[in-house]
Amino acid sequence: MTPTISHEIRLVSRPAGRPGPENFSLAQVTVESPAEGHVLVRNLFMSVDPYMRGRMNDTASYVAPFGLGKPLDGGAIGEVVESQSAAFKPGDAVLSNYGWREYFVASGSELRPVRREFEPLSLYLGALGMPGMTAWAGWQLVGVSAGETVFVSGAAGAVGHVAGQLARLYGCRVIGSAGSAAKVQFLRDECGFDSAFNYKDGSIRDQLASAAPDGIDVYFDNVAGETLEAALSALRLHGRIIACGGISMYNDQKPRRGPSNLFNITTKRLTMKGLIVSDWLGRQAQFQHEMGGYLRAGTLRSKETVVNGIDQAVTAFIGLFDGTNVGKMVVRLA
Ligand code: NDP
Repeated sequence: MTPTISHEIRLVSRPAGRPGPENFSLAQVTVESPAEGHVLVRNLFMSVDPYMRGRMNDTASYVAPFGLGKPLDGGAIGEVVESQSAAFKPGDAVLSNYGWREYFVASGSELRPVRREFEPLSLYLGALGMPGMTAWAGWQLVGVSAGETVFVSGAAGAVGHVAGQLARLYGCRVIGSAGSAAKVQFLRDECGFDSAFNYKDGSIRDQLASAAPDGIDVYFDNVAGETLEAALSALRLHGRIIACGGISMYNDQKPRRGPSNLFNITTKRLTMKGLIVSDWLGRQAQFQHEMGGYLRAGTLRSKETVVNGIDQAVTAFIGLFDGTNVGKMVVRLA
């Protein structure tokens, strides 16, 4: 076959604070035909995720930093165009970590086949993929029981809206916080949250206290900062915190002071557990079975915000820090 023209996004400088378009470039490249054991894939959707911000810094974390001048990577779902691997044939849907580009060649061992049971295929980057699994793993990590009151921050996002709905399905009373009136309405009307508030509307501590006058049992933390402080005050005796994310701090240029009320951990015998979703890959089949069941039955709603074209991928990524997404932010590439 003739070489394929593709476009990819590269990191050209490390953001200081909030990322901007100047930190990225759009490059055209030629992708050669696959060699023995390899596969040419056309990406259909790619994911933009908050954790990618951390990888743009030149600091070691639980994932390696992105290389300067190199294409970014991340979750993507695509379709096999040409295969030199016995495991794949043209038309197969595959998940990979070769996001931020239109086409790529990879070894068959780097691809995960996807049965096309659910449409759109972007679901495998959202509720049925990494963010959905994060939501599910969070509740497994601390254990929740029917009748408990849980609070989810970043509740209208990819992880949050699934986490809140799962907790409802487990019989919990669910409170969510998000950054706009429209998102609050989405949580109440479409995701079945018992209560939701806009964290920009005033004191988070006061709004949480009025949503949960008797306190909360579990806090699913996606944002950290002031919201974590409010949750520490609202948590009841033996309450639990799922430390999932801290997006309110990802663009900070100086370390922030921790919560002033951390001593609540002692007085209320709280437990705070860190969550990294990749630790849970061994339980992926269990997650997919459970989540697939909810989606088939229509008891859990998956919401996404779709942006079109590789040239809009950077805008979509930066939008995560402005809250331009409801549900999972994905970029359609084909
Ligand atoms: P989202 O889809 O929730 O997108 C990010 C959202 O964060 C925005 O829509 C915005 O919503 C909110 N946000 C942005 N800035 C702030 C701020 N200063 N304060 C409060 N909210 C803010 O992303 P994900 O669901 O993919 O991720 C949610 C969190 O979970 C992130 O912190 C992420 O890093 C973490 N995560 C952790 C994983 C793990 O393994 N530990 C795996 C996956 C995600 P709004 O309009 O409400 O402000």
